[in-house]
Amino acid sequence: LTLLGIESSCDDTGAALVTGQPGAARVLSSVVEGQAELHAAFGGVVPEIAARAHAERIDSCVARALEEAGITLAEVDAIAVTAGPGLIGGVLSGVMCAKGLAAATGKPLIGVNHLAGHALTPRLTDGAPFPYLMLLVSGGHCQFLLVHAPDRFTRLGGTIDDAPGEAFDKTARLLALPQPGGPSVERTARDGDAKRFRFPRPLLDRPGCDMSFSGLKTALLRERDALMQDNTLRAGDRADLCAGFQQAVVDVLREKTARALDLYLAEAPAQPMIAVAGGVAANGAIRAALTGLCAERGVAFTAPPLALCTDNAAMIAYAGLERFAAGETDDMTLAARPRWPLDKRAPALLGSGK
Ligand code: ATP
Ligand code: FE
Repeated sequence: LTLLGIESSCDDTGAALVTGQPGAARVLSSVVEGQAELHAAFGGVVPEIAARAHAERIDSCVARALEEAGITLAEVDAIAVTAGPGLIGGVLSGVMCAKGLAAATGKPLIGVNHLAGHALTPRLTDGAPFPYLMLLVSGGHCQFLLVHAPDRFTRLGGTIDDAPGEAFDKTARLLALPQPGGPSVERTARDGDAKRFRFPRPLLDRPGCDMSFSGLKTALLRERDALMQDNTLRAGDRADLCAGFQQAVVDVLREKTARALDLYLAEAPAQPMIAVAGGVAANGAIRAALTGLCAERGVAFTAPPLALCTDNAAMIAYAGLERFAAGETDDMTLAARPRWPLDKRAPALLGSGK
């Protein structure tokens, strides 16, 4: 099976081709066009600007993806597209494009949940066997998912406020480090003493897998202000603040992952595996902590390559392939959904992102 995937739910326009079977597929091409420069001046993604940019760029992304894969639209078996959750204008741009291509070619149309795309990525990169445990950590999301089947997910817990990526970005802003904050805070933390400041580890004293990261920036702000002299911060102090902050995030993620792992192992999976995805999965300290935990518990660990961890269309094409292989398709009534929880039993949970 060969699928075209289209992604436009946030600030990346993507088109990709994936070929193979469920659990054994590969990426033929994956084109991603970011919009950071369009939104930079506004301090966040502006939905109207994003929607317009997606609409303008999506056709050329599809053309490039086909060209890089060296195939034509006629050779594609189906067209998959992110139908939510996300910024509705952007999602609509993608859905309209996919419907147009489907109508023009007569190929089946498949709506994909963006989060399912992220959650199924370990199947694409590692052929991860069901059920596996997924930790999704990005700028907008933080949740543990048990992935039982392509369309069956159990949400074990997640952040009740900020996502960790957001916390890294805010920390960078408070310390006058460049955006995105994750890489710059991680780099700065390398020279720091993680033990000098004791930042809070919220919710560790409570049972369950829920997390909270918004209190961290308040604590950081307080320490920063106490250290500031003539409105400047010494490089050593900045490094210690970064190291302390990162250590707090690492400790929370490690402990909560250990708890999620207990719930997962209670299901007695034959080949237990944990996967992380999302931009924050790029963090070396977080990876090391989770790798260590998995080694201790005898569980396989995987973190897909970063280009497939952050927003991309290959994961959408792959999630579409799983649906298509199961005989599921959509028709021209496919709707764009701003909200679309993966776990249908937990639709109203706070902070699950979108
Ligand atoms: P989503 O896709 O969930 O809506 P997003 O598009 O903001 O959110 P991603 O593109 O997956 O998320 O990831 C971006 C986030 O990852 C940013 O907040 C960034 O600071 C963070 N990040 C990137 N590299 C690192 C790193 N080395 N350490 C920590 N955080 C990182
Ligand atoms: Fe995403």
